[in-house]
This record gives sequence, structure tokens and C-alpha cells, in this order.
Amino acid sequence: MDVTTARERLEEMLAELDRSIAVLQGDPVAIRERSAADAGSDLTDADRAQAMVTVATTQRRAVVEALKRLDEGVYGECVDCASPVPEGRLEARPEAARCVQCQAKRERRR
Ligand SMILES: [Zn+2]
Repeated sequence: MDVTTARERLEEMLAELDRSIAVLQGDPVAIRERSAADAGSDLTDADRAQAMVTVATTQRRAVVEALKRLDEGVYGECVDCASPVPEGRLEARPEAARCVQCQAKRERRR
């Protein structure tokens, strides 16, 4: 994936995440836009919204960091071992910071 495409996709993701976070945090305009949202869950709306804010905020941070790596010219390199992150992985997750091996290692540690 070339850096222009990567940047476009990351910026789209960032805009989308900002919108989702605003909705979840109760921006009234955004809430009106998606008033017919999903129903049915064991969690209360507030719990669910909080959980989603956490996920969205974590992902947003990953996207911002990926954009920073684009600026620094190191996008597509694993932040741990500096080997190239496979193309297919970046296609699926443009914000991916690590190669598959380092990500697996990291998740095992958690
Ligand atoms: Zn790596």
C-alpha cells in the first residue's frame, strides 16, 4: 500500500472514530444522526457506551500514531523489530504498528 493511500485511509478512520467518540460521549447533534441505533444488550446504554469509548479511544491512538509514522517516513515498519509489516496486514489494519510476530508476542505478554 502506498503512503498516499495509507494516509487517506488513516484520516478517514480518524474522522470516523472522532465521530463515534462524540456520539458515545453524548454530543446531541451526533446522537440525533444515529437515533435509530442498535437495540438489545445485557449492558445498560451507559455501560455499553463507555466500553465502546474505550475501544474507540484506543484505536484512535493507534491511528494517530500511524499518521505520525507516515510523517516520519517509517510507516509500514514494525515498531519493535523494524522489519516490514506485511502488505496484507496493512490492508486489513492500516494502523497496525507491529508485524504479526511482534504483535503476537505482545498479546501473549498481556
Ligand atoms: Zn516486528
